[in-house]
Amino acid sequence: MRVPMIAGNWKMNTTVSEAIELVNEMRQGLDEIDGVDKVICPPFISLAAVYGAIKGSSVRLGAQNLYFEEKGAYTGEISPLMLADLCEFVIIGHSERRQYFNETGEMVNKKILAALRIGLKPILCIGERLEENEAGRTEEIITEQLRSSLAGVDYPGSLTIAYEPVWAIGTGKAATGEQANKTIGFIRGKIAKLYSDGIAQDMRILYGGSVNADNIAKFVQQPEIDGALVGGASLKATDFVSIVKQTSQIRANLSKES
Ligand code: PEP
Repeated sequence: MRVPMIAGNWKMNTTVSEAIELVNEMRQGLDEIDGVDKVICPPFISLAAVYGAIKGSSVRLGAQNLYFEEKGAYTGEISPLMLADLCEFVIIGHSERRQYFNETGEMVNKKILAALRIGLKPILCIGERLEENEAGRTEEIITEQLRSSLAGVDYPGSLTIAYEPVWAIGTGKAATGEQANKTIGFIRGKIAKLYSDGIAQDMRILYGGSVNADNIAKFVQQPEIDGALVGGASLKATDFVSIVKQTSQIRANLSKES
């Protein structure tokens, strides 16, 4: 059975001292929970401090982005090599990067290849916009995003996919559990076609979009959904711990039943 993952995307929130405070608030509660991979993704500037603060704990660290070159004259960018010192995971292709920073499918692909090359575990975000959803184009958009993001990736290995319908991110309008499960099942089918059944069955596919402590249960009880990428609710320690705890309990009950 796939181990579920709950990843917190802190986005452009928290100063360094606030980041340390937040991680200290959630660390103990998270350490008491088993059976879930717990990942936090603070802003770049806080990664080193948070790395120190989670030493010896079960909390794992991710970045929110990276540049695909290893080093050189790319003012303001952060390379895979720099991140690999501190992080295990890296979010790639988040819709906010596609929308506000014009990240194309080609750039996302270069980032995925660069992350895998250095041994970082990518969390690849894909998802359709509202108008695409309303036009019934969800599967077409997702197929194209998978094709372009994974071009030249022979073996996706440690890669996790986060299905994040853009209309659900930060809007308070989460997808239903059934909707998300159906699309994630579709994504798994595409991965099976691109690679193999075994790779598709092993790959974690998360849901993301307005997940909180009140609605996490309806996602993680779905068979295809392996956890969540959480934005806003990951900034409140009690909410984030509750999301992880519910995931652990629901998954433990489901595996007892099966
Ligand atoms: C996200 O940033 O990936 C996200 C899903 O945000 P939110 O949970 O706030 O919708």
